[in-house]
Amino acid sequence: MNKKNIKELREKIDVIDDQLLKLIIERSLVVEKIGKEKDISKPIQDKDRENQVLKKLLKSHEGSFPKDSIIRLWREIFYSSIKLQLNSQNNIFPKRGIDSINLYKGGKSKIAGVNNIIKLSSNESPFGPSQKAIEAYEKTSTKLSRYPELTAETLQLEIAKKFNIDSNRIICGTGSDEVLIFSALSFCSPGDEIIHAKHGFEMYPIITKYVGAESVLATEDDYKINPSSIVDKINESTKLIFIANPNNPTSTYLNKNELEILLKKIPKNIVVVIDAAYAEFVDATDYDKSFDLTEKYENLLITRTFSKAYSLAGLRLGWGYGSKKLINIMKKVRPPFNITPGAIAAGIAALNDQNHLNEAVEHNTKIKSWFINEINKMGLKAYDTQTNFVFIIIPENVKENASTIYDHLLSKGIAVRYLLSYGLPDAIRITLGKKEELKKTIQVLSEFL
Ligand code: PMP
Repeated sequence: MNKKNIKELREKIDVIDDQLLKLIIERSLVVEKIGKEKDISKPIQDKDRENQVLKKLLKSHEGSFPKDSIIRLWREIFYSSIKLQLNSQNNIFPKRGIDSINLYKGGKSKIAGVNNIIKLSSNESPFGPSQKAIEAYEKTSTKLSRYPELTAETLQLEIAKKFNIDSNRIICGTGSDEVLIFSALSFCSPGDEIIHAKHGFEMYPIITKYVGAESVLATEDDYKINPSSIVDKINESTKLIFIANPNNPTSTYLNKNELEILLKKIPKNIVVVIDAAYAEFVDATDYDKSFDLTEKYENLLITRTFSKAYSLAGLRLGWGYGSKKLINIMKKVRPPFNITPGAIAAGIAALNDQNHLNEAVEHNTKIKSWFINEINKMGLKAYDTQTNFVFIIIPENVKENASTIYDHLLSKGIAVRYLLSYGLPDAIRITLGKKEELKKTIQVLSEFL
């Protein structure tokens, strides 16, 4: 193509841009008028109407402009219209999605007036970290005046050695939460869509909003994510899929076969995050603890954490593994020096203390069927678990409900997790703590019910 042709085409685009701008200005005048008629103390955004408009636009869509770009553009126009109606020129105004974040609740860690609380609310290990990890951590106190390694290289090497994987394809974060955030930051723009389970990990909708994206909820069958529903919800705007496997809070999991069938059906431009925070506790033989699928799927990220089975939640250390391409993209959004010297040292020591890990996992495996059985004997419905917690539904015929059961346990110094903030008003989640703690919980519950 010669320069003259390009010049002519550019002039055409200039004319179109002028027309577009004129139309946007015209639209904004109408929006302003609507704003004057509206009660702005009520929510301004009408998602149903927005979706209808988008549907109509896409139906009449012709040409090669990508659909997801059209959706993003219009979501930006909708958002600007909300701002216009609120007349926010002189106010600080959060970016799209931030206002509607429901702050992460977390499990209760204090009960007023109770010193020795039984904390079964955050899926922590009851046994504390490896002594070797504590000693390694303490030794780093002399290093506090210096920045740590830029990218936690020595820890990455140790993880690679332990799992027989490639250290260049590991990314570490301050908790696996941070790795999940990196994935959304790297692949999602405002207006894109992220699919996750209706009752998936609480951080997924929050992270979705950090990046201005929209949550699209996959349905579940008896609280287990339905893989076909994930596939059904995919469209041009889908950029990321979060699957907690096993899932928090429902403790269900997808087996290797189900996962492979699903991955085959997902377009390769969509990043799939398998959040395996509880993988160490899984004893189901059809669950895949390996990282093999990342060899086959360049779009797959698997995350792990030191918070659960390694009992290092306070350290804030997690990591992700994926293809070189995927990890190299994510490395661009990782802040430098994000892993502290203490976390690097304690993480390495913990990886090398296999006995400590085995003890935590063996305790969990031993105790879970006993606890589930005891709960079910009381007429509650405890689900099988592949994690270090038990998901419990309070059936309607039980005289107390989830909220009163939760409150009663609290009054006796036992903190469990009421799952209202997960959209599960009839459910509680109890971490598999020490046997004495669980015995006490059973005793308090059976006296109450
Ligand atoms: N994923 C799941 C499924 C979780 O339950 C949790 C913690 N509750 C996390 C990720 C985050 O863990 P961390 O940031 O401590 O690694």
